[in-house]
Amino acid sequence: MAVDSSLSSPLGPPACEKDAKALRFIEEMTRNADTVQENLLAEILRRNAETEYLRRFNLGGATDRDTFKSKLPIITYEDLQPEIQRIADGDRSPILSAHPISEFLTSSGTSAGERKLMPTIQEELDRRQLLYSLLMPVMNLYVPGLDKGKGLYFLFVKSETKTPGGLPARPVLTSYYKSDKFRSRPYDPYNVYTSPNEAILCADSFQSMYSQMLCGLLDRLSVLRVGAVFASGLLRAIRFLQLHWSRLANDIESGSLDSEITDPSIRQCMSDILKPDQHLAEFIRQECQTENWEGIITRIWPNTKYLDVIVTGAMAQYIPTLEYYSGGLPMACTMYASSECYFGLNLNPMSKPSEVSYTIMPNMAYFEFIPLGGSKAVELVDVKIGKEYELVVTTYAGLCRYRVGDILRVTGFHNSAPQFHFVRRKNVLLSIDSDKTDESELQKAVENASKLLLKECGTRVAEYTSYADTSTIPGHYVLYWELLVRDGERQPSHDTLTRCCLEMEESLNSVYRQCRVADNSVGPLEIRVVRNGTFEELMDYAISRGASINQYKVPRCVNFTPIVELLDSRVVSAHFSPALPHWTPERRRR
Ligand code: AMP
Repeated sequence: MAVDSSLSSPLGPPACEKDAKALRFIEEMTRNADTVQENLLAEILRRNAETEYLRRFNLGGATDRDTFKSKLPIITYEDLQPEIQRIADGDRSPILSAHPISEFLTSSGTSAGERKLMPTIQEELDRRQLLYSLLMPVMNLYVPGLDKGKGLYFLFVKSETKTPGGLPARPVLTSYYKSDKFRSRPYDPYNVYTSPNEAILCADSFQSMYSQMLCGLLDRLSVLRVGAVFASGLLRAIRFLQLHWSRLANDIESGSLDSEITDPSIRQCMSDILKPDQHLAEFIRQECQTENWEGIITRIWPNTKYLDVIVTGAMAQYIPTLEYYSGGLPMACTMYASSECYFGLNLNPMSKPSEVSYTIMPNMAYFEFIPLGGSKAVELVDVKIGKEYELVVTTYAGLCRYRVGDILRVTGFHNSAPQFHFVRRKNVLLSIDSDKTDESELQKAVENASKLLLKECGTRVAEYTSYADTSTIPGHYVLYWELLVRDGERQPSHDTLTRCCLEMEESLNSVYRQCRVADNSVGPLEIRVVRNGTFEELMDYAISRGASINQYKVPRCVNFTPIVELLDSRVVSAHFSPALPHWTPERRRR
């Protein structure tokens, strides 16, 4: 539909009036970024002036940025842990926020091995919803005709618990999908999903995935975009199809749903959707039974224009695999968000993954940026192109000058709002899905497994490093171990080494174990024993490439292909974790 030219936007011609409004909002916020930030901080400080946290810093009613920055420290989660624990335990006094904390969002970042609990308030849901509402208007500028079909999105809810004080604790997306904002969203021709709400909201991940895939297959010719939140999730869906296409085809042929799908609301809604279709069942069998799955996405969903998945940051490791399965479809990374706060969106979503930049929306929170290697935080509009910064947020929900842990590089500006390339998350060594393992967690896991090894056969781990192996779906952690086996000592048995794998998994944080147990999004950990002298060769290699011999440290994680190849060529045996580690939704008490 052609739109009145008076609706045009500097970002491009909007697809409809609703889009025009959204694009105008982006323009207004980004043009006035500094004023928006100034007013937003003043509003937060006015509103939360009587909270226990702000009173501690004697702002004396000041709501300006200079006073705020001179009196409040920049903090991490650990600094807030006592306050968060009190709220979790049921203290309803205004500790961090004048508005009641409505729930905790369980971040994929961890503290003492457990997920971080991010306090949030009811109205933050509106702010998140607002950011979501900007995504399609931007996408419609680049991909026309998205109102002529549907999106096949694999979306999931995860298990939730209650804190001792009775507040829900769940991931931010689970909170969003379960909210009325999502469940009762008004019909929007640009945002029609093949997955019914019943399938998305089913907590059993198998039943949810099965029914979402089935709906995607039934409606395959309507599908214009295929997505999941993160690349790892979309690959998990492809793996699921590899494992279950035959059952799915049987359902399509017979028009009756597999008996393993027992969720009554899914069965009810599928009874309207699923009709016998011999022709489609044959087509699916024919496409899926071949060994070659290259381009499977476009073979099954031939009208797909792009993949909607985040492939920036740790997810970049999946780009080649997704290219393989999609026959090189563009990958759109639309937004940048976290449990603490939704930050911003990509105004050029069809850009190459390596060139993706996110524009932080100044209305979402008050943002500060600590230059890498520096200490003085600067304002949103004062960051410099080419420089790297650590992101600090002050939110309506009561986080004040809180370090998110993300490192961003400024690539440019849209009006006066900077655009950022996501560089990395601080201190993350290994990540496959939403798990994030840092160096000290890995060290502890190796230590625990080494104790087992020593006890059982007197052998020590002389050196180790790790690698996130994403050539398998799901990907898995690989630990390269060089063992110290003295003359006359026997090599540890395969059985002992497999138990060392499990011991390490038991020692890793709860997000890792949840990915292994509940989500099946991380595969069994593997130990690859390398022959003696391998780590010396690794050092020789690093030195030949210019590393200083005095300062050389064994890297605790490797991803540079020649190094991985060197390690793999020295492997004498490989051992996988034989069982799932322990995990329950309940948190350990501190
Ligand atoms: P969580 O709080 O568990 O939702 O995790 C949020 C974190 O995920 C962020 O702080 C980032 O480190 C990462 N993240 C979120 N969105 C993106 C993105 N578009 N690109 C890269 N990393 C992202």
